[in-house]
Amino acid sequence: MHLYGTQSVDEKGQLIIGGTSAVTLSKTYGTPLYVYDTALIKERARAFIQTFKRASVQAQVAYASKAFSSIAMYQLADEEGLSLDVVSGGELYTAIRANFPVERIHFHGNNKSDEELIFALDSGIGCIVVDNFYEIEQLKRLTALKGKNVNILLRVTPGIEAHTHDYITTGQADSKFGFDLNNGQADQAFQSVIDDQHICLLGMHCHIGSQIFDSAAFSLAAKKLIFKMLSWKKQFDFTCPVLNLGGGFGIRYTEEDKPLLPETYVEDMIKSIQSEIRHNDYPMPEIWIEPGRSLVGDAGTTLYTIGSQKEVPGVKKYLAVDGGMSDNIRPALYQAKYDAVVANKMSASSTTTYTVAGKCCESGDKLIEEISLPSVEAGDTLAVFCTGAYGYSMASNYNRLPRPAVIFVEEGKHRLVIKRETYEDIVRLDCSLHDKVLGE
Ligand SMILES: *Cc1c(COP(=O)(O)O)cnc(C)c1O
Repeated sequence: MHLYGTQSVDEKGQLIIGGTSAVTLSKTYGTPLYVYDTALIKERARAFIQTFKRASVQAQVAYASKAFSSIAMYQLADEEGLSLDVVSGGELYTAIRANFPVERIHFHGNNKSDEELIFALDSGIGCIVVDNFYEIEQLKRLTALKGKNVNILLRVTPGIEAHTHDYITTGQADSKFGFDLNNGQADQAFQSVIDDQHICLLGMHCHIGSQIFDSAAFSLAAKKLIFKMLSWKKQFDFTCPVLNLGGGFGIRYTEEDKPLLPETYVEDMIKSIQSEIRHNDYPMPEIWIEPGRSLVGDAGTTLYTIGSQKEVPGVKKYLAVDGGMSDNIRPALYQAKYDAVVANKMSASSTTTYTVAGKCCESGDKLIEEISLPSVEAGDTLAVFCTGAYGYSMASNYNRLPRPAVIFVEEGKHRLVIKRETYEDIVRLDCSLHDKVLGE
């Protein structure tokens, strides 16, 4: 059995997370419950940041907060010295409500509205990662209108797609994001911003995929972007102060996944950038990276209470939990695989193969297709590991299920960071046909 972060098993055979028994947590807060082991989040943040420091490389490690966005998480990211990526006005608003230093916030997205850009400019955002020509025109118009200056990166698609264990080089990048690096779009974007009096170009950004398990794809991306930086230096005498290589560092969901250490991703990245740079007599840029999943993914565990079971004789045994695709859409959305344990039966041997189903009205609402567990009964606590990224942030009220609570645990202390929704919350925005309406 593989445990994560501070997890252990006590003498009663119960799963312990951050010094507290999962059974106690589920009794205290109810289920489903997202539990974050904050010591593991801090360990990861420090690993990324310290590796740059040890190499004396100027860097920003920006938490790609779409993975899990909340006021408490933003405060934790700030305490750890992380920068922050946001991709919408809503995430920016949450960051500002968390008092996150706005100069360390980077704003992403392929279709930012005027309202969102004005909000970012008025807030004094650290950097906008510009995605397309429409956005360049928006920013020129809005910065002139407001008399504000803004730092930008140009998001480019280098024609590399990283997949879990390898990468492919695509001649034509068919991504919805960014300027193509190879067909002249990136150069055209460069030329259209470089003389603007309100826009300050810091360099380029790329994000080549997610769940990447080796360094080669990052090295190749760095090489391609640096090649373009060299050409801008030669042609326009312009030096990029920043090189942003995005996120996508892999984590272990199941035993099939074999990620590198954060230190190794960063060391390899620094090595390949330095060798390109030195070789070409170019000043070392500040390196920015954007880990999301690798900061919070395996620090998160979801606790469920097991309810009904169904056996299809000779075919499979279902156990059903009190959540499902409403709190974790990833298995239904892209066949994501998860590992789980029975948190109150950690010492029992696994004798039965179950399919873990949710309670939503969809046959596809299955969290785990096949897993070997001790024989379970109603009331047992199922702990599904590695749900910290894209779990709560993609949760919905499908079937009008209230979204679960989120807690942080560390050293025997636990703290509520997002309250469980109530039925009242579920109808909060509904308007009755019997209410008076405008124009009646
Ligand atoms: C989603 C995203 C990330 C983070 O990806 P992870 O796989 O969670 O590390 C980083 N940068 C950008 C631009 C993204 O869209």
